[in-house]
Amino acid sequence: NVPLVLTEFLDRAVLLYGGKTAVYCGDRAFTYRELNGRVNRLSYGLKNLGIEKGDRVAYLAPNTVEMLEGFYGIFQLGAVMVPLNIRLTPEDYRFILNHSGSKVLFVDQEMYHLIEPVKDELETVEQIIIHYKEDNCAEIDYDRWLDRFPPDPFPRAGLDENDVCSLLYTSGTTGNPKGVMLTHRNNYLHALSAMHHLRVTDRDVYLHVLPMFHVNGWGSPFYYTANGATHVCLRKPSAEAIFTEIIRHNVTVVHMAPTVLNSLLQYNAEHHPAIEQDVRVVIAGAAPPPAFVERVEKELGWEFIQVYGMTESTPLTLVSVIRSQLGGLDRDTQLRLRAKAGFPMIGSDVRVLRENDEEVAHDGKEIGEVTVRGHGVMLGYWKNPEETMKTIRNGRLYTGDMATVDEYGYIDIVDRKKDIIISGGENISSIEVEGVLYEHPAVLEAAVIAVPHEKWGETPHAFVVRKADAAATEEDIIRFSRERLAHFKAVTGVTFVDELPKTASGKIQKVRLRNEYWEKLG
Ligand code: ATP
Ligand code: MG
Repeated sequence: NVPLVLTEFLDRAVLLYGGKTAVYCGDRAFTYRELNGRVNRLSYGLKNLGIEKGDRVAYLAPNTVEMLEGFYGIFQLGAVMVPLNIRLTPEDYRFILNHSGSKVLFVDQEMYHLIEPVKDELETVEQIIIHYKEDNCAEIDYDRWLDRFPPDPFPRAGLDENDVCSLLYTSGTTGNPKGVMLTHRNNYLHALSAMHHLRVTDRDVYLHVLPMFHVNGWGSPFYYTANGATHVCLRKPSAEAIFTEIIRHNVTVVHMAPTVLNSLLQYNAEHHPAIEQDVRVVIAGAAPPPAFVERVEKELGWEFIQVYGMTESTPLTLVSVIRSQLGGLDRDTQLRLRAKAGFPMIGSDVRVLRENDEEVAHDGKEIGEVTVRGHGVMLGYWKNPEETMKTIRNGRLYTGDMATVDEYGYIDIVDRKKDIIISGGENISSIEVEGVLYEHPAVLEAAVIAVPHEKWGETPHAFVVRKADAAATEEDIIRFSRERLAHFKAVTGVTFVDELPKTASGKIQKVRLRNEYWEKLG
């Protein structure tokens, strides 16, 4: 059997598209052949530092060509990549670097100040290498170091498809990040499935907005490379920069969180940037309401595709692209379906289960937990067998996400188990309430959490960021939600804030809002 290993993807791109631009990064551009040469230099360099099969190599970098080549440079050695979220604290980095036992750390110069305070407490890191080193910094400069090694083909370590290729720490949306072990086979089969469902071709130009260190962005160096698409790296994905890069490079596809897409809608309404090509926007990480999908298609003219997944499932397992047999449906039904997370992707067996592990009725109403079996399910959590045993049971991954299934088999994520509000014995989806608040003209962003209530147990409380110059009051927002929702679902209080706490991938951290609420009370 030919092992399903990720190095094959870059090999294919070099063979078929060697002279094509593989990546734009700021003012630099590299063909696939040039990128491959850099990857080989990197592998020789790592070998020279003593890195062997199974060793961990960490990256702390925004979306850059250095990060992209890191994937393949590490895999050629059979080593394991540990991408670090760029928005953590020095203490978090100390924890993850020591926990993962990383031997080498690559850091972007802009992030080095986050490592410096804990440098002496790194137990296993033997070498730090800096992308774009400043003159007064003592560490090794990446470019000068890379130049010392040849671009020639690198003799590869014997790779097995079941070898771990990455330790990805989860977003930490709900608590401490956990190190997820994914294998070559996990990522390889996920890439084949994703390239089919997202219709990836060599005509695609992919803009990296979702960070590569986060699992939703993490898969893209595989499936866009395998098809010879062009990568566009973007360090700081502001709305303005996103539109500029889309126009400059004729970008055809981009993945992002709904919060970022929301900021693009705002920017578009104010500045009307002119985009000529068709753009597919792949939304991951949270569920937007149907009205939002409609705005994207009307105001931006982009094709909206929603996906669902989690680090533990490599990530994507559901996709909302309309199946051709549903083509005859009216527009309203189609919109409603597109706002759902979707149907299982090839190779994923996704079932929504009751407490007793029976499947819920396919009526679009009964709520159960999303579970996944298939090629994407992680090997386990690194050094954490208890959590692994809790999460993978009888070969199924229990996601902690609650959902319904409709008569078409479309799965709709209702909420995280931890975020559901239980009021007078009724389940309220915080996502549904947020969807209504987003329809209010003054609301820029909203997040709803459960707060204690004497009579009902819990009720929904909203944190709202108002649009500039908007003057809506707490009473306005409460009334608005009562007019549009069953009364038990309406918000009972509103806290106005300047911004909502988010993870680096753009997800709202409700756990921090809950803490903030309790701190204010107490
Ligand atoms: P942690 O596990 O550390 O608390 P996290 O769960 O946010 O963090 P990720 O693995 O990055 O870490 O995110 C996966 C989660 O994102 C899913 O479990 C789900 O709750 C949410 N999610 C992903 N896609 C969607 C979607 N389309 N709709 C609703 N929620 C989604
Ligand atoms: Mg999670």
